[in-house]
Amino acid sequence: MGAYANKEVTDDIAVYLEDREYIANKYVMKCFFITMVFFVVSFVLNLLNIFVVDQDVMASGFYPSLVIYCIMWLVTRKVSLSNPKTKYFILLGMMVVYTIMGVTITYHVVLTSILPFLYATLYSSKRIMKYSYGLAVASTFITVYGGYNWGLCDANMALLTTGRLSEYVSGNQFLLTTVNENPLFTLALFFVLPRCLIYIAVAFVCNNIIRIVSGSLEKAKLTAELEKAKIEAENANNAKSKFLARMSHEIRTPINAIFGMNEMILRESKNPAIQKYASDAKDSSVILLGIVNEILDSSKIESGMMELVPVNYHPGAWLNDIYNMMNVRAREKGLELKFEIDSTIPGELYGDDKRIGQVLINLLSNGVKYTDKGSVTLSINCERKEDVAVLYFSIKDTGIGIKQEDLGKLYEEFKRIDLGRNRNVEGTGLGLSIAKQLLLLMYSDLQIESEYGKGSEFFFALEQKIVNPEPIGDFVQRDTQTVASGGEKMFTAPLAKILIVDDVAMNRTVFKVLLKQTGIQVLEAQSGEECLEILQKESVHIVFLDHMMPGMDGIETKHQIAKMNLCPGVPIVMLTANALLEDRELYRKEGFDAFLSKPIMVAKLEKLILKFLPKELITEGAYAQPEESAEAVMELPELEEFDFSYALGILQKEELLMKFLEDFYKTLEPLQERLDFLNENLEEEEILSEYRTGVHSLKSTAATVGALLLSKTARLSEMAAIEKDLSKVRVLHPILQEEISKHKARIGTMLRPKEKESAEFVEAAYLDMLKMSLERDDYTTADMVCGEMQKKMYPGKLQELVEKLAGQVFNLDAENALLTIEEIKGKE
Ligand code: ADP
Repeated sequence: MGAYANKEVTDDIAVYLEDREYIANKYVMKCFFITMVFFVVSFVLNLLNIFVVDQDVMASGFYPSLVIYCIMWLVTRKVSLSNPKTKYFILLGMMVVYTIMGVTITYHVVLTSILPFLYATLYSSKRIMKYSYGLAVASTFITVYGGYNWGLCDANMALLTTGRLSEYVSGNQFLLTTVNENPLFTLALFFVLPRCLIYIAVAFVCNNIIRIVSGSLEKAKLTAELEKAKIEAENANNAKSKFLARMSHEIRTPINAIFGMNEMILRESKNPAIQKYASDAKDSSVILLGIVNEILDSSKIESGMMELVPVNYHPGAWLNDIYNMMNVRAREKGLELKFEIDSTIPGELYGDDKRIGQVLINLLSNGVKYTDKGSVTLSINCERKEDVAVLYFSIKDTGIGIKQEDLGKLYEEFKRIDLGRNRNVEGTGLGLSIAKQLLLLMYSDLQIESEYGKGSEFFFALEQKIVNPEPIGDFVQRDTQTVASGGEKMFTAPLAKILIVDDVAMNRTVFKVLLKQTGIQVLEAQSGEECLEILQKESVHIVFLDHMMPGMDGIETKHQIAKMNLCPGVPIVMLTANALLEDRELYRKEGFDAFLSKPIMVAKLEKLILKFLPKELITEGAYAQPEESAEAVMELPELEEFDFSYALGILQKEELLMKFLEDFYKTLEPLQERLDFLNENLEEEEILSEYRTGVHSLKSTAATVGALLLSKTARLSEMAAIEKDLSKVRVLHPILQEEISKHKARIGTMLRPKEKESAEFVEAAYLDMLKMSLERDDYTTADMVCGEMQKKMYPGKLQELVEKLAGQVFNLDAENALLTIEEIKGKE
């Protein structure tokens, strides 16, 4: 449900329930109006002599009533009908009019005084009912006694008086006699008492109506509140899902970069110490990824977003993968990993192998984690029932075991038990809870038996549909064979061409470096549109398409490729950092040949490439050695005052250096402005210290990009600031500023590609888009828009402003960036 729809519903609830005051007041004004119409009709009929009421008397009541009504109507146009006090005002006004009507045309009184009761009913308030009741009785007394004493009354009053209207009822001797003998008694007996009885009856009826109506109102209110709560919960859930999708994407993308870069260090570095660091970093990244995945999975299950994706799978190969993965971990700990697999398990089953695998890996990993010596054993027994195989899984270890009293706490999220002993074992306490929930989704239950100090056994049963009944045979034998021939294959394929489509440059770089040693030619496209363009010109062997891209996303691009018949028969692999959409079924449905989730694991990537590349392009054997010697400096232009060989000593890669230079360039302008400002107020301790930090970081970043002179100048300023020698800082300040300006200009000319198109003005659409993204703190889009704007050269001051703007965006300074946007708009 969209945000607007929700808002509408909430608004409706506010109007219809919380604002009953308003509706009731409006309603009673309508009653009032109807009464007035009635009065007008009576009045007109009377004028036409159809009525028997004295015209003067009636007119004396009619005109003031009309005036009162008009005043009330006007006032209620101004006064808020939602105001609780308004009801007393309206009620009072109404009673006055009823009373007037009562004394001028009596028979209306009873009829009209019921209206306030309805009003009260509508409010479902006994207090208002009492109030109306009091007013109605008072109005009756006034009507009757007023009529009697002041001689205003009409036909009924004639029963009591010998006044003006007596001729209409003169035939009724009995009453007249009674009246004449004891008028007050007659009044009480024949008028006040019956009316009060009528009111009591009406009050009784209304009271019951109140109960019924308020009951259903209460019910309606409750339903609406429930509805509201449901909508809120749905909203929260939607927000959560979006957050999850975003998180998984956001987290996995940088982890992808860490994995990839680290893999390159492992492959390229010959230095054993660096290899060791990189290998430790890899271990930590694997753990980090595991934790992120566990948290995401657990939230997915909690929010009901975890869906099973049953597919046909081969249990043999599947168990093999699990064995290979777990065996490495078990061996590292000196444990024996045993797989006792029933040879009668059917050769192909239907189920969610990925999720069952996840449960097994969770339980086996726990077995390995919490066992110091001995073994961890997975046994699977199979029982066939027609077209279904019931698999009995058991994961048994000879580890530390679990105390009986702790068994109940095992499945609580984030709960880790026996912390004294397990302090050094990493974990989130989510694994078992996820395993249990996943099994519940598959209509199974995780059970456990454990003996403290001796070991534990986890077991569960699962039904899987049989696709191919032929038994898998002896697992152990097949496993050794595979391991013997397995391991990572090394290959080169210099004639192969692969296209990677990803909007994030860093991801493309990682992809490229991962394949560098295979010699495969990697073409890059940063959008779906560019991908189509490339495919029209080039023929490639595999296309790797990122899912989430601005503009045309991966799936859309895939459809376009098919529609334009661009590379028939070429495998298209979906790349995704979005764990929530890591949906095999979806990708398969969309016609992708495979999918690869980010962070890209080099082994999986190579496996896919080996699967899809034409065999004749692949040469098995050692990797191509990277040509390191001839690298680098040559590609970089000479730049006055920049020592790029020094910078490359730090940054290693020229692409990285160029990226750093670009980033460094963007920081210079704001830095200059800030330093100027600080320089004015150096006497203040805090300002001086900020100045010092500013020049300190300039010192190191300048050195990193090879701007050694600038770095040295910054160092002098830093020293002066450390010594709190203000006059020295002030003398050095203009020198430093000049150095910064010079460097800025030099990098600026170098970064500006010669073939840059020139433009007279900055496209208004860019400025608007930039403004919008800054207002939403969406710096990714803002950076992209700035990048687009910077592709052109603008005349004079405009160019300066564009660069200033890019710098501000780069430094997340939305406030000033918005001002600069206005300035640019003013220039055009
Ligand atoms: P963790 O990430 O801490 O391993 P789990 O949910 O997988 O989280 O397990 C919860 C707790 O159950 C663990 O902290 C551990 O104390 C205990 N546990 C799980 N498996 C075993 C096992 N095979 N042997 C002993 N204790 C276990």
